[in-house]
Amino acid sequence: NKPLADKKALVTGGARGIGAAIVKRLAEDGASVAFTYVSAQSKADELVQEIKSAGGQALAIRADSADAGAVKGAVEEAIQAFGGIDILVNNAGIASLTPYDQFDLEEFDRMVAVNMKAVFVAVQAAGPQMKQGGRVINIGSVAAEFNPFTGNSLYVSTKAAVAGLTRALARDLAPQGVTVNNIQPGLIDTDMNPANGPSASVVNMVPLGRYGRASEIASLVAYIASPEASYITGATLNVDGGGSV
Ligand code: NDP
Repeated sequence: NKPLADKKALVTGGARGIGAAIVKRLAEDGASVAFTYVSAQSKADELVQEIKSAGGQALAIRADSADAGAVKGAVEEAIQAFGGIDILVNNAGIASLTPYDQFDLEEFDRMVAVNMKAVFVAVQAAGPQMKQGGRVINIGSVAAEFNPFTGNSLYVSTKAAVAGLTRALARDLAPQGVTVNNIQPGLIDTDMNPANGPSASVVNMVPLGRYGRASEIASLVAYIASPEASYITGATLNVDGGGSV
């Protein structure tokens, strides 16, 4: 029996990168998986096809996480399509290494909206219908604890906010038997942080000496989503090859 059989999941930003690895893993573990995307339509369509041809259930929803109404709409669409959401994974995120004195304030608002406000809005929309055993899993960043880059102050702030939201929301959702946790990736080779990008200069500071794979984040998401993780809530868990030690 698959560990997430009969579970219904929504993953934000699920067409590529870490989100796509999470979508695939939850589907492999038996969940029906809806996911949002904003630009990667063909990747979203391919992923839906891949899951369906393996016998799973998948649904791609176009929703810009910078738009609170669109986030709420995506949650409602997933609830409508599957009859509920048991597992909400807030993964969509944006980053920008920009000197603090040149950071555009419209971009500031957009980053706060995508990385932080959308997390809160999605929990507001999905939380009330979640039942005993439900899961909110946020994808923060180990940068909230250890940041080796200049020009990263806003990103670090939004991810520290995600850690704070996680702790406080864990208390809010506990009476329903729903857990809320924060998974903080370290250097993961994706479009956001390619192995030939700026992080190449700091990978030697990571004790395990390499970038992580998106699937190495997805495996912890799968565990936290599973019934095995029933007594873990409000936690921040680093998956960073030791990069924050
Ligand atoms: P990518 O840039 O590779 O992918 C970003 C994902 O977020 C895409 O699915 C993208 O959708 C989605 N997204 C971005 N903006 C929006 C938006 N406005 N509305 C909806 N979806 C959006 O990033 P990663 O996979 O690397 O990152 C995933 C998460 O992990 C982020 O929260 C990131 O901050 C975090 N993280 C990543 C690390 C890394 O080293 N890679 C390290 C620590 C944390 P679309 O494909 O449609 O554009």
